Amino acid sequence: MKSTSRRWSTHARCVVAATGIAIVLGGGVARPAAAQQEMSDVEITATHVAGNVYMLQGRGGNIGVSVGSDGVLLVDDKFAPLADKIRASLSEIVDGAVELQFVLNTHWHGDHVGGNVEFGAEAPVIAHTNVRERMSTRQETAFGVVEPSPPEALPVLTFGDSVSIHFNGEEIRAIHYPHGHTDGDAVIFFTGSNVVHMGDIHFAGLFPFIDLSSGGSVRGVIDAVTRIVDQVPPDASVIPGHGPLSTVDDLREYVEMLEESVAFVEAGIRAGKSLVALIAEGVPERWAGWSWRFIDEARWIEIVHGSLQGS
Ligand SMILES: [Zn+2]
Repeated sequence: MKSTSRRWSTHARCVVAATGIAIVLGGGVARPAAAQQEMSDVEITATHVAGNVYMLQGRGGNIGVSVGSDGVLLVDDKFAPLADKIRASLSEIVDGAVELQFVLNTHWHGDHVGGNVEFGAEAPVIAHTNVRERMSTRQETAFGVVEPSPPEALPVLTFGDSVSIHFNGEEIRAIHYPHGHTDGDAVIFFTGSNVVHMGDIHFAGLFPFIDLSSGGSVRGVIDAVTRIVDQVPPDASVIPGHGPLSTVDDLREYVEMLEESVAFVEAGIRAGKSLVALIAEGVPERWAGWSWRFIDEARWIEIVHGSLQGS
């Protein structure tokens, strides 16, 4: 369905209700009882990825977990009301007591850091400097205003370009890619287990949300994913921010989609076509199936257009 009358701001509420992806849930958590109820039907499932690494899925961003003799490390932590379900899921994959040692955040959005307020009490939270900066100040995004997070939810260890944690027998390396999905993205490389957690730089088989109001850029995403594809072994397992467990080949296809979308919008801009006309035309047919309820084709074209016009 193509409609040009829809704008981000007017759709924030229904997007939240429909998907719970909701960056704005940062604000929605102001009513914890309602939020708790809204999450009561969510199921958290655990999948062994490779080596020490598991993936937890359910509403919100995918969680990466390192499990071993040093304890547990989480990459992202979904929404606060899911904390008990996440703990229950961890206790199924951990031998004995769950000893959480570190939490890494891939970026500041509420569907990835919402659980910080719970897990930050158990272990230090680590993130790029801009994650702490954005979480501690009022943000105006395409979805409306997100109020500052409580101090106990903020990352206590911040880094610039990268940080390594030597944990469970491997180097877990967090590397910052500037201006991708946001301006505070970190991609997490489990170098021994041969797994990479992409955060929201990667939506698997889906048009991605790119948060232009948080410093995101479609060219930045292409640059980051291209560099990662060149860097990881070809048989690495890929945890996307959203969507199913993926492969390096899936990342290559994702880059193709991004590049063809940019080429389509760029050509349109050069030909003097309006955004309305581009949306009516639609992206190349091959990618039409990447549309989903949160980012349909019209929104995707709008994001790419906005990113190219801004750059
Ligand atoms: Zn995000």
